[in-house]
Amino acid sequence: MNEFKNCDLDLKKLPVDVGPSYEGERIRGPDMFLELGGPKVKFKFELIRVVGKDDITVNNGFKLIGKDIPEYNGGETIPFGIFVEVYGEKVEVDLEGIFERKIHDFINNIQGMMHLNQRYDIWCRISKADKEKGLKFEHIGIVIMSLLKKHFPFIEKIRCTLITNEQDVIEFHKKAVEVYSARDMKTKGMKDEDIDTFYGCTLCQSFAPGHVCIISPERISLCGAISWLDARAAAKIDPEGANFPIPKGECLDAVKGIWTGSNAAVQKYSNGKFQQVALYTMFESVHTSCGCFESIGFYIPEVDGIGVVDRNFNGASPNGMKFSQLAAQAGGGQQIEGFLGIGIQWFYSRKFLSADGGWNRMVWLPSTLKERIKEAIPPELADKIPTEKDVHNLDELKNFLKEKEHPIVKRWEEAEKEKEEETELPDIFLDVPFPSVSYTKILLKDVRIDAESAVVKKR
Ligand code: SF4
Repeated sequence: MNEFKNCDLDLKKLPVDVGPSYEGERIRGPDMFLELGGPKVKFKFELIRVVGKDDITVNNGFKLIGKDIPEYNGGETIPFGIFVEVYGEKVEVDLEGIFERKIHDFINNIQGMMHLNQRYDIWCRISKADKEKGLKFEHIGIVIMSLLKKHFPFIEKIRCTLITNEQDVIEFHKKAVEVYSARDMKTKGMKDEDIDTFYGCTLCQSFAPGHVCIISPERISLCGAISWLDARAAAKIDPEGANFPIPKGECLDAVKGIWTGSNAAVQKYSNGKFQQVALYTMFESVHTSCGCFESIGFYIPEVDGIGVVDRNFNGASPNGMKFSQLAAQAGGGQQIEGFLGIGIQWFYSRKFLSADGGWNRMVWLPSTLKERIKEAIPPELADKIPTEKDVHNLDELKNFLKEKEHPIVKRWEEAEKEKEEETELPDIFLDVPFPSVSYTKILLKDVRIDAESAVVKKR
């Protein structure tokens, strides 16, 4: 099909059901007819662009470039692209990222279909049952167009192109990556200190209850698809939607990134599950992680450093854990110290784990991710951060860091020195009477305790 075909956007006429009750449906291998994108193929994307009125010649138009669902044998994994163009007098370019992120929800509304991730990482599956019912790519395009228009009634014209032909996916992908990076560059130079409002997103609460993304100019969302500017545009045009403004309020800790406003937002939108959030650390009041984060940071206690694995890396990190295992520790909207979902753009930020030592604390990255973000890595550290090509376990990691004089080694030395300098402390006996109640709370502040054993007795 080379031309756009005008479509009837009535979802009731489709061969499969569409509705929010199908969100969260997983299509497992034995039930799958076709896999679109995902970790096994290099090129996949979803992109929405705002265009001029006359650019959309066929409103509600659909075009397929490549083979359709019935033409496959079943069991294949194919490159895949989703390209949607929208026009509306009130539609701002800053909304592209927000529209795009909704594709995830819309495709998951299709019975028998699954959609994971975003941008250049999308991963969809079509079930055998859908194939039997006669699902075609045109129907998927109709769902995307229909639900986009329904959720954003100010979209006046729309058209959708789905691409399955590998060479065309590669061509479109190249352009899509340029658009993503131009979008990400828009917040460059903006500082968290210079604005008085952050923005929040709760879009992922459908599968990660309690999760709240706090998005600042210097801290992109976990999924990497929604920047501060995107969230601001969305909150303005759709005040009842998943994005909302967060007045920063009073700064409680500038280093860790704690404000009264972001705390209040987390309390409210997590329904009281969490009380505080720190934006620049993974060791205290950690930002919640949903499940669609682009990468995950994890603490490696054996070297007191931080490693990061992105979702495209299939191997194991030096502690033997894979992305899926690490993601399971933090996903689902939890606040787990030592684990943190990370949007790729955050690596380039001045605030990247700044309270934890930033890049000086980074001790391991997968080689593909390291290459991808090489411009974010301080040049003096480029050779000091190993990948799976350099080390395979914690002993090798430790030796590598020592040999390359990674800044973390200084941290080890300082910790060692501190230990040695400790003089033997006299025993301290606290002669505090126990009150005659059923329990006693002992609060020790600013104290370091090294103890073989401790005994608390009621006399
Ligand atoms: S990861 Fe955060 S910003 Fe992205 S869709 Fe989920 S809640 Fe929204």
